[in-house]
Amino acid sequence: MATTKTIDLRTDIPGPRSREILGRKERVIAAPLSVYREIVVAEGRGATITDVDGNTLIDFTGGVGCLNVGHSNPRVVEAVQEQAARFTHTDFTIIPYENYVALAERLAALAPIAGDVRAAFFNSGAEAIENAIKFARAHTRRPAVIAFEGGFHGRTLLALSLTSKTHPYKAGLGPFAPEVYRVAFDDIEELERAFKTKVAAEEVAAIVFEPIQGESGFIVPSPEFVEGLRRICDENGIVLVADEVQTGVCRTGRFFAIEHFGIEPDLVVIAKSIAAGLPLSGVLGRAAIMDAPGDSAIGGTYVGNPVAIAAAHAVLDVVEEERLSERAEAIGERIRGAMERWRDRHDEIADIRGLGAMLAIELRRNGEPDADLATAVADAAAANGLLLLKAGMHGNCIRVLVPLVISDAELDEALAVWEEALDEVL
Ligand code: PLP
Repeated sequence: MATTKTIDLRTDIPGPRSREILGRKERVIAAPLSVYREIVVAEGRGATITDVDGNTLIDFTGGVGCLNVGHSNPRVVEAVQEQAARFTHTDFTIIPYENYVALAERLAALAPIAGDVRAAFFNSGAEAIENAIKFARAHTRRPAVIAFEGGFHGRTLLALSLTSKTHPYKAGLGPFAPEVYRVAFDDIEELERAFKTKVAAEEVAAIVFEPIQGESGFIVPSPEFVEGLRRICDENGIVLVADEVQTGVCRTGRFFAIEHFGIEPDLVVIAKSIAAGLPLSGVLGRAAIMDAPGDSAIGGTYVGNPVAIAAAHAVLDVVEEERLSERAEAIGERIRGAMERWRDRHDEIADIRGLGAMLAIELRRNGEPDADLATAVADAAAANGLLLLKAGMHGNCIRVLVPLVISDAELDEALAVWEEALDEVL
């Protein structure tokens, strides 16, 4: 059992209390909600999680990218408490509230889109993706959507239809939504070919892409590909939708990852870190597209919940005051430096990918993707107090979604545990 500066392990991982609760879970929670790491959280603070057995671990999973401002950020906690004490719900389209409007104003100013920008808020990433397609279809009056191999856009019907990975997400769950066409990522020629072999360009409402693919292992496309998407959309009247659910809110060293590529999308989808894990997502986009659906065609009882919106305002305050994008760059440099050193020692580290603090290593053995290696490294790290998350079409990547408020000392401590885990397994 290890105790370093921040990590403090008092039992084996999982400890007895976690095991007891997880035993109860097996009896009452639906089986598909399987647990990745068998510890039960009691508290989160900044970049750490303390479990119900009193163990404190450093968290590189960041609630799968929701916690760029850290667990229980004091500003978020205060904003949520204050809002919850005033009112928790009306339904914005029945009785509106100011913080919804003010968040739209703040995000419109940040959006990487020139001209009039409008916003609409939802609950989850998948729900915002579904609505982005509604905006695009209403605007273009066309049915088809193009998405990419390796893309992940969520688990509701249309979002799942756009999602590429069969296992574990799609297998056995069809039929899927029609008029979704998939082409290879980062291959503009194949996209152009698809207009001849798969779907006519004039039938396509939207092209949906992640500026850096998340679930499939932090794949950064070439600038030519992203510029090509913009050109093709311009030439054919197609709406370009950037899914920034995982890449947004400073993760890559810019508020939006698309800023690295110097092009403007027509719609941007945000979720995850925008409200520090409270359920909030949004679509930002050109006014003409966002205004296209009919009255009340967009909405939902809970969408743009005022407590989640209060959290988002606190997140934006932290982004500004703590210069979170710059911090992401600095964290990213430190982590990349460590990863490069590890790669010099371990042939199994086949690739290091990402931008800013959105970084992953890919593990291969004899040239083949090796998911077991990634699992073994993540398990060894967890046993010593560092929570790592896997990714990749083959499950053979380990990705970093660490809270960007982590201190340098915590970061070094975590990287030392990760390095030890690699040495132990490889
Ligand atoms: N889009 C991307 C790029 C994501 O990473 C995710 C979730 O991981 C989603 C969409 C779906 O978001 P949610 O799980 O909130 O529905």
